[in-house]
Amino acid sequence: MNQDFCEYCHTPLGQLKKKVTVYRHRHGRHFIFQQVPARVCLGCGAKYFSAEVVQEMDQRMTMPTVTTETIAVPVIPFEYTRRREPVMA
Ligand SMILES: [Zn+2]
Repeated sequence: MNQDFCEYCHTPLGQLKKKVTVYRHRHGRHFIFQQVPARVCLGCGAKYFSAEVVQEMDQRMTMPTVTTETIAVPVIPFEYTRRREPVMA
């Protein structure tokens, strides 16, 4: 079996899958998936999903079937709320 590496930090990825929470959006609607199986990079925490999992999330965003709750999501305009960083000399 070929060893996969994290595309961000090049840490070798294990085969073990964890259940993670995933935020996705589609056509301006926002979705949070819970308990999604993913390979998580031990180096940087990047999450990798199988093609089937990605496909299934896409499908469920088109036709949401089971949802447990709907939450309000704060929208923060980053540039306007940013504090002035100390200037390094
Ligand atoms: Zn990584």
